[in-house]
Amino acid sequence: MDRKLRAELEPLGVRMLDGDVLALALPTPTLPPATTTNHYVIGRSRALLVDPATPDRRAQDKLHQTLALLTANGWQFQALLLTHHHHDHVGAAMPLSQRLDLPIWAHAATATRLAGEVTVHAEVSDGALVAQDADGSQWRALHTPGHAAGHLVLQNDQHLGMIAGDMVAGEGTIVVDPRDGRMADYLASLERMAQAKPAFLAPSHGAVLPDAQAVLRHYREHRLAREAKVRAALPTKWTPPHDLLPAAYGDVARRHWPLALRALLAHLIHLEEQGLAQGDRGLWRRAG
Ligand SMILES: [Zn+2]
Repeated sequence: MDRKLRAELEPLGVRMLDGDVLALALPTPTLPPATTTNHYVIGRSRALLVDPATPDRRAQDKLHQTLALLTANGWQFQALLLTHHHHDHVGAAMPLSQRLDLPIWAHAATATRLAGEVTVHAEVSDGALVAQDADGSQWRALHTPGHAAGHLVLQNDQHLGMIAGDMVAGEGTIVVDPRDGRMADYLASLERMAQAKPAFLAPSHGAVLPDAQAVLRHYREHRLAREAKVRAALPTKWTPPHDLLPAAYGDVARRHWPLALRALLAHLIHLEEQGLAQGDRGLWRRAG
């Protein structure tokens, strides 16, 4: 990237990452301690803005300004792509789509979740080539359900950088809530990401994670360790999940327990799928 453009992008807060990936962190109503969502630009001859997330008007102006500057410098934007349907990823999708006359792309399951709120113009399926860098390298979408049913990550086939969405976080934690996701899928998706051997992970919240394999291994091990705690806490008599929180999530601050309860349920469902727990009308007990 030439120095003049670099000098124009820096005051807007745009960070330049490996493989020509650009990142702009803008405010969103996300899960504390995170306060922003990273807006990534990938590709150049076929460029995408990933997660037009901010609902803040002034931040949207900044985003618009950034995209206009890039367009004037040869970026050819094709679409706005959503990694998944959560509100801290889609807040600027409709206004920006109209302002820039760009379509919104997302996985079919994301489109279903957003029906009536955000119009998805084209569905992106697993393996689809979605963007292209100036050097001809291609960006491919991988379907990675678990945190959200329609979650996509994006990987460059030559530089192997990966836009990781909410599969991992540089700041805060990733919640697997059974209303949106599934623990078995999440664990399988982490495995699939590891197999794709990303050079780095660019998450939606927080800084880039350079040691991708270690991060993915840590996330997997952390979930399995938590699940072992849930399993150990589960008695043979029917129990409301809330009663398992002190034993399984005692290390988590009480103010986070409502979220922990969602994660606990995701683990109980996963244990049930493995024949290790039994659930009935909101009560759970040990099985197997
Ligand atoms: Zn999310």
